[in-house]
Amino acid sequence: MTTSLSHPLEAVRTRIDAAAREVGRDPTTVTLVAVSKTFEPPDIVPVLEAGQRVFGENRSQEAKSKWPALRERFAGVELHLIGPLQSNKAREAVALFDCIHTIDRPKIARAVAEEMNRQQRQLKLFIEVNTGEEAQKAGVTPAELPALVALCRDELKIEIAGLMCIPPHEEEPAVHFALLAKLAREQGLNALSMGMSADFETAIQFGATHVRVGSAIFGARG
Ligand SMILES: *Cc1c(COP(=O)(O)O)cnc(C)c1O
Repeated sequence: MTTSLSHPLEAVRTRIDAAAREVGRDPTTVTLVAVSKTFEPPDIVPVLEAGQRVFGENRSQEAKSKWPALRERFAGVELHLIGPLQSNKAREAVALFDCIHTIDRPKIARAVAEEMNRQQRQLKLFIEVNTGEEAQKAGVTPAELPALVALCRDELKIEIAGLMCIPPHEEEPAVHFALLAKLAREQGLNALSMGMSADFETAIQFGATHVRVGSAIFGARG
């Protein structure tokens, strides 16, 4: 940072705009999800004061302890769940979040659909795809994706906005971003949640509509 007045958020926004323009995209088609997990209100408030309104958290419990009070102080906050969801937490998650990036199996799709009906809330939903087919990672495999999309569309009648992925650590992220974009096209889905602090510019190149950026805005997590 060069001056005490500019928050790292501003630099991230500038980089997003530049990355979008470089591939001829309108920068307003890229939503920055500021990932505030592990950070406390004193670190989050300056980001809100700088105008950011879309935030990502990876645990319902943590989000519930931080965000109701912040939402009272700042209007227009949009909260995104970017971490794994358990079906017994669907009620809480649907009440608290505006968007879930991690629909990763039929059971979760069913639980979220049921809660959206019950609570009469429409959340924006992404299906998480395990593009690297890693054993320990959440998400459907590319082969399982069409069936989950069909379940959501035809049986559960819930709208899926798009797809999300977290590329394997040791691999070239571009390959995974390209794969996710291809899978979304095949399914007729428009939104792509991909790209984190280390690779959001590459993700934008490949069509990301939602980049999830934590440490580049808030600093290293403890
Ligand atoms: C923590 C997290 C991020 C942000 O990671 P940074 O490298 O800090 O930008 C993005 N997406 C998911 C799913 C995360 O869990």
